[in-house]
Amino acid sequence: MSLPNKHYGELKDSYLFFNIAQKVKKYQTEHPDKKMYRLGIGDVSLPLCDAVIKALHKGVDDQANKDSFHGYMPECGAPFLREKIAEYYNKRGIDITAEEAFVSSGASDELGDIIDMFDRNTSVLIMEPAYPAYVDANVMAGKKIYHLPTSSDEGFLPTPKSAEKEGIKADVIYICSPNNPTGAVYTKAGLKEWVDYANTNGSVILFDAAYEAFIEDDSLPKSIFEIEGARTCAIEICSLSKTAGFTGTRLGYTVIPKTLERDGMNFNAMWVRNRTTKTNGVSYIIQVGGAAVFTDEGQKQIHENINIYKNNAKVIMEALDAVGIWYCGGKNAPYVWMKCPDGMGSWEFFDYLLENIQVIGTPGEGFGKCGEGYFRFSSFGSPEDTKEAAERIKNLLKK
Ligand code: PLP
Repeated sequence: MSLPNKHYGELKDSYLFFNIAQKVKKYQTEHPDKKMYRLGIGDVSLPLCDAVIKALHKGVDDQANKDSFHGYMPECGAPFLREKIAEYYNKRGIDITAEEAFVSSGASDELGDIIDMFDRNTSVLIMEPAYPAYVDANVMAGKKIYHLPTSSDEGFLPTPKSAEKEGIKADVIYICSPNNPTGAVYTKAGLKEWVDYANTNGSVILFDAAYEAFIEDDSLPKSIFEIEGARTCAIEICSLSKTAGFTGTRLGYTVIPKTLERDGMNFNAMWVRNRTTKTNGVSYIIQVGGAAVFTDEGQKQIHENINIYKNNAKVIMEALDAVGIWYCGGKNAPYVWMKCPDGMGSWEFFDYLLENIQVIGTPGEGFGKCGEGYFRFSSFGSPEDTKEAAERIKNLLKK
């Protein structure tokens, strides 16, 4: 007898990056002399900064000696790293303790695992266009999913009123700010509306802050815990992937306040129980490397890299400004989300760019139906290629 989770059969095949790769491969086979300009990737291109590399080497050396060797690490994270993460929040005036900061192997892992803490019958609200893992992880878990479509009319930042208008009342609310794919960022007032809504309705917000380090406007919140009331309704999931180039090194953290409770159950205590059962901790070496990100030297160096990406975003935005195309994101996020010109569909525009100027982006439709007619550019490519791509976009789209 076999008893597979039948919900896997409800997953929609993700053709987005597969289709992109196929189209690019076909074009390259037919035009081997053409250089491609890749503004589609969501992966970083710059190496780890010096402070992290030095710390990683130290971590390796520690493992070579009996006196400094570490075996299993504490499941919820090494105290030295949990303290550094708490300090990172405290320095910004946010009251988080080390016991509220859990070390993870990355945000994707956490986004999948965290669902374990919610009852089988909980419903989830996902604002679309969205990072595809939110939907897929909840389909696998058999949750009821409410898709909340958003549009340029609300700057791709829906309010609780938008949910009410659609008749949606969900137990768990996903918020990603700065957003992937739209690059849109909630203001404090915008997040406060969701915090009040969640506290009133007993919902829990899963706040994905994977791109918080790209926020340069001081008035915008980098953490949901900057918002009054968030400690009783929110969990924050963070990643060092884009912040510090850890996509291939793997490290993240999750903040669960001790004050988050529903039906007499405490989420911080539940997560301790979950982690001590389902993980044996993150590698000591990687945690030593991660701790270096939170030092003054590490912060300075990661921001030098982030600024290179941000400058790429600026170059893309300037090209779109020059040809009068609507977009959002870019300023406080690594993604620029543009409206396709002349009513073109997302894939139509993808083909148009590929065939005419060899620039590769990501069709908005891949992030949910309401992304149709939009297109995402990423700023994680090389500055040289981004400059050339922006020039080509400008020349192609000028009227
Ligand atoms: N959350 C968002 C919004 C992302 O865009 C990504 C990666 O692209 C992740 C989470 C996953 O991050 P990690 O590399 O830490 O798993």
